[in-house]
Amino acid sequence: MMKVLIADDSATSRALLRSVLTRWGYEIVSAVDGAQAWDELSKPDAPALAILDWEMPHMTGPEVCKRVRETLREPYTYILLLTGKGSKGETVEGLDAGADDYVVKPFDEHELQVRLRAGKRIVDLQMDLLRAREELRERASKDLLTMLPNRNAVFTALEQELARCHRDHRTVGVILLDIDHFKKINDTYGHFAGDAVLKETAARLRHNMRPYDHVGRYGGEEFLVVLPNCDLEQAAVQAERMRTKLNGSSMVVDGQELHVSASFGVTVSDGSGRNPDFFVRVADEALYRAKANDRNCVIALRAEESGLSQAK
Ligand code: GH3
Ligand code: MG
Ligand code: MG
Ligand code: MG
Repeated sequence: MMKVLIADDSATSRALLRSVLTRWGYEIVSAVDGAQAWDELSKPDAPALAILDWEMPHMTGPEVCKRVRETLREPYTYILLLTGKGSKGETVEGLDAGADDYVVKPFDEHELQVRLRAGKRIVDLQMDLLRAREELRERASKDLLTMLPNRNAVFTALEQELARCHRDHRTVGVILLDIDHFKKINDTYGHFAGDAVLKETAARLRHNMRPYDHVGRYGGEEFLVVLPNCDLEQAAVQAERMRTKLNGSSMVVDGQELHVSASFGVTVSDGSGRNPDFFVRVADEALYRAKANDRNCVIALRAEESGLSQAK
């Protein structure tokens, strides 16, 4: 049921509006003056449709309109002004203040009904648009195979955690992991089996983390894990736990048992001065060493020990 705000200082007029709008299936919120109308419209779950009387104490209808247009952007509020003044100049003034439409008082029932319906149509359309945009935003940050945050999203999480931990004088653990000999899995069992292994890997990683940690798909068979409030030793322990969870039991794909392992590079950052990119490079250096160290292992490395410098 759509909510409509009725703002009118005349009790008779409010009662009349309430009775017809209720009959047409709207849910009513009412206000007795402009200040109250503004109050109702600025609430989180405010009506998206409003009928505002022109003359009201504290704030006139057009003033409320202006304020709504200046401050509230989304979702859109569709505003119908009630004017007692048939004159063209004032109608223009009302529309100029940001009203979408107006109805002259005393209103004709049928006209009001039709105009409200037009408003409802616009509000419905706008809600659909907002929902679609939300969905797009969600999709743009997700990897659709594993349903984990994608590279961009997990990198953004890393940036935010670095900034936050720097403020709180804490450190952030960073893990970069890469499935071992993944190309061979693809070559032996096929690309779909490879995909299934990626999905299962993602699920095992996600189920073995604290709720406020982040994991995302960083590249093909590479995952980035961000651990707020974590030092190097704790991050290495977490990486070891993940390594065991991946390697400890086989993955069943198409009725076949696959033994999967991954190599882990771990580092830590206090967030000061250095960009997120740098710590991913340090983790990548550690990962490289883990690969060189016969794979299926964890190598932890501090930035100072990496041989990498911030400037590249
Ligand atoms: P290493 O142990 O050194 O990491 O060897 P590797 O075979 O895992 O590494 P390599 O970089 O040679 O191969 C990675 C493979 O991952 C190559 C690429 O075709 C495959 N890959 C990347 N993305 C996907 C995907 O979404 N699905 C599948 N099935 N394979 C993918
Ligand atoms: Mg009035
Ligand atoms: Mg690999
Ligand atoms: Mg790789």
